[in-house]
Amino acid sequence: MTANHQQPEVNIGLVGHVDHGKTTLVQALSGEWTDQHSEEMKRGISIRLGYADSTFRRRPDVDAPDCYTVANEVDGVETEHVRTVSFVDAPGHETLMATMLSGASIMDGAVLVVGANEDVPQAQTEEHLMALDIIGIENVVIAQNKIDLVDSGQARENYEQIQEFVEGTVAEDAPVVPISAEQEINIDVLIDAIEETIPTPERDPEADPRLLVARSFDINRPGTTFDTLTGGVIGGSLTQGTLDVDTDIEIRPGREDDGDYDPVATTVRSLQAGGSTVDSATPGGLIGVGTGLDPSLTKGDGLAGQVAGPGDSLPPVHDSFTMDVELLDRVVSDDDDEIEPISTNEPLMLTVGTATTVGSVTSARDEEAEVTLQRPVCAEAGAKIAISRRVGARWRLIGVGTLE
Ligand code: GDP
Ligand code: MG
Repeated sequence: MTANHQQPEVNIGLVGHVDHGKTTLVQALSGEWTDQHSEEMKRGISIRLGYADSTFRRRPDVDAPDCYTVANEVDGVETEHVRTVSFVDAPGHETLMATMLSGASIMDGAVLVVGANEDVPQAQTEEHLMALDIIGIENVVIAQNKIDLVDSGQARENYEQIQEFVEGTVAEDAPVVPISAEQEINIDVLIDAIEETIPTPERDPEADPRLLVARSFDINRPGTTFDTLTGGVIGGSLTQGTLDVDTDIEIRPGREDDGDYDPVATTVRSLQAGGSTVDSATPGGLIGVGTGLDPSLTKGDGLAGQVAGPGDSLPPVHDSFTMDVELLDRVVSDDDDEIEPISTNEPLMLTVGTATTVGSVTSARDEEAEVTLQRPVCAEAGAKIAISRRVGARWRLIGVGTLE
């Protein structure tokens, strides 16, 4: 492995309102990749997963924050590797809250992107921050973006609105870095803030490998003949352990058969991490796993939300569960509606790990609810559950549950 092909060790979410510049920022930070072993797999994953790896580097003999860059070379001087990170680019549109929530379950920290040219907060600026708060993502950096579009007076006013808005939230003490993602202004200061604020969490490389599946796909081109067909690919975050090629794994809850789910067993055939093919993936960032599965199973995110690892080490599968419930004070919306208690028979959207399912409440007590799930989930006791309720035409985040 050369210095250019380090494996990512931390997942950083890009969250915030639509059009505030999340995707542009990921592009500014992810630099260039060389050595793409499996072009199809790479393209498939980076396009469909909404993620990109980025390697932070530093210029020797230059102090922080000016030293930080994503370039291999600055002014003819080679830069040094600091850390490779995976960015999870969350969709900022209100209809994609479920996607944002399942992405949040694999974020170790987040960059909240706020457009400097609009009033704070916009709807999903608030809803995404609330989600980080609820899921317990405490390491947050705020990127005050599009600084090129405002004058210094507007920038200051916007900054003050941000400060007021984050008061009392997880982002209360978050650094606010004025940047222009498009003009690549202050990207070094942003990297410095990320380095200071979002450390790599400790993970156990010796534990049984466990992959939270965020996406899955069929990478075969239409018309591929049977003898050249490539097995299904799953992508997600290796939260613990080390995953090796040729390891036998199980994916749970697995495949649906007449309303029942059966775990599927397969073997790891290939691994992609940090933009290259590897024999062994270390815990941390996002990886792609080539399997021997029938690609029709993995097509179009068919296995998203599932959990993969050695069969005897996986958490149990639940068709129903009881959860402790903590509701928000109010719905995140323009009219600031108060949140009614959960009632028996109401449908809730539940995000557990990367899985999203609808549950019907069979029994609701003060701080506890029993739910029967439309689709089962694989999760351990103590898992955090983001709870959304249908309000008007869409699901709104109303609270957090803990699996009993
Ligand atoms: P996302 O929805 O948050 O992912 O936003 P995008 O990254 O797609 O950006 C939305 C629009 O804002 C695009 O037209 C970008 O070119 C533009 N944009 C992003 N960052 C900047 C910036 O720093 N300055 C200016 N002027 N435009 C930006
Ligand atoms: Mg985007």
